[in-house]
Amino acid sequence: MKVLVCGGAGYIGSHVVREMVRSSQHKVVVLDLLAATHGHKSHIETGVPLEVGDVRDEAFLERVFSEHKPDAVIHMCAWLSVPESVREPLAYFDNNVVGTLRVLQAMKNHGCKQIVFSSTAALFGTPESTPIKPDARKAPESPYGDTKFAAELMINACETAYGIRGVHLRYFNACGAHVDGDIGETHDPETHLIPLVLQVALGQRDHIKIFGTDYATPDGTCVRDYVHVTDLSTAHIQALDYLEKGGKTDAFNLGLADGFSVKEVIESCRKVTGHPIPAVLAPRREGDPPILVASGEKAKSILGWKPQFDTIEKIIETAWKFHVSHPKGYKC
Ligand code: NAD
Ligand code: UDP
Repeated sequence: MKVLVCGGAGYIGSHVVREMVRSSQHKVVVLDLLAATHGHKSHIETGVPLEVGDVRDEAFLERVFSEHKPDAVIHMCAWLSVPESVREPLAYFDNNVVGTLRVLQAMKNHGCKQIVFSSTAALFGTPESTPIKPDARKAPESPYGDTKFAAELMINACETAYGIRGVHLRYFNACGAHVDGDIGETHDPETHLIPLVLQVALGQRDHIKIFGTDYATPDGTCVRDYVHVTDLSTAHIQALDYLEKGGKTDAFNLGLADGFSVKEVIESCRKVTGHPIPAVLAPRREGDPPILVASGEKAKSILGWKPQFDTIEKIIETAWKFHVSHPKGYKC
C-alpha cells in the first residue's frame, strides 16, 4: 500500500517511518509541519518523500492526496502536552480535532479508506480498574484527552457513513529511542519525564521536579506504563495489515501492563547514567491521573503485537544513547 504518514517527522513518527522503510512492505510519504524539530529534517529516512505543510490547510492536503494517491493514512499530527492543553484548549481543539477532520475530509474526497490514528491513555482519565482495557470508561481529565477522544469518535462515525475504517492505537507513555542511537525524543520545549531526567544527567538542568508526592500510589508519585517507541512502531505496521485484510474500526491499548512511579523512573535513570540526578518535590501537575497502566492483551491477540523492550532499564539505555550523541536534539 502507499501510506501517507501525517506527523511522520515527529518523535514517534520518525520511528514508525523507519520500521516501515526497513520492512519494505509499504511505500511511505511523510507529511509534516516540522514543528517538533523547528524545521530540522536530517532525521527523515533517505529516499522518503516529504511534504512540508499543515493538515489543517485544505488546499495543501488536496494537492498531497491528488499527487500521492495514498491507500492509507497514519495520522500522528497533534499538539500533545497535557499542561499546555489546560492553558490553551482552543489551540488543542484546533490542531487535534480540526486537523483530524481535515484529514478525514481529504480521505473521503479521494476514496482513501484506511486510517491508523495516534490516540492516548489520556482519554481514560482516572480508570475504574487497572490494567486498563480498551473498552474501559472514557473520562478524559484534560483538554488534550478530550481532543483525542473527539477524534476517535469522528473516525468511528466515518465507517458506516463513508466506509473509512480506522484503528485507534492508544499509546501509553511512549519512550526510548532507536537502538542505532540516531533518532529519539526531542520535543522543544520538552515536557516528558524521561528526556527531562536525562537532561539533568547531561548537566543541562540542575534537578528534576517530581510533580506530586501525595497520590494514592505506593510511593505517592504517579505511575505510568512506559512503552518503547520501536514497539509502538511495529504496532502501526500490524494495524495496517489488519485494515488491509478488511478489519473493522477498532481500538487497541499499547502498554506492558507494568507500571513505574516517577521516583522509580528517576532511580532507573540514575542506574543507567551513573549520575546522582537530584530531584525536588513539587506540587501536582494539572490533568495528571495517579495511575495509567494498559492491558495490551487485545493488541497482542488481534494484531499480533509482541513488545520486545520489557524492562524500564532497557528502554532508558536506548534513550540515553540518543541523548549522549544528540545533546541538543537534531540541532547538532
Ligand atoms: P511529536 O510532536 O514529536 O510529533 C508530532 C508531529 O506532528 C510533529 O513532527 C509535528 O510537526 C507534526 N504536526 C503537528 N501538528 C501538525 C499539523 N497541523 N500539520 C502537520 N504536521 C503537524 O509528537 P510524538 O510524541 O511523536 O506524538 C505523535 C502522536 O502520538 C501525537 O498524535 C500524540 O498525541 C500521540 N501520543 C504521543 C504520546 C507520547 O508519549 N509521546 C503518547 C500518546 C499519544
Ligand atoms: N513528571 C514529573 N516531572 C517532570 C515531568 C513529568 O514528575 O518534570 C511526571 C508527570 O507528572 C507524570 C509522569 O511524570 O506523572 C509522566 O509524565 P509525562 O509528561 O512524561 O507523560 P504523560 O503521563 O503526561 O503522558
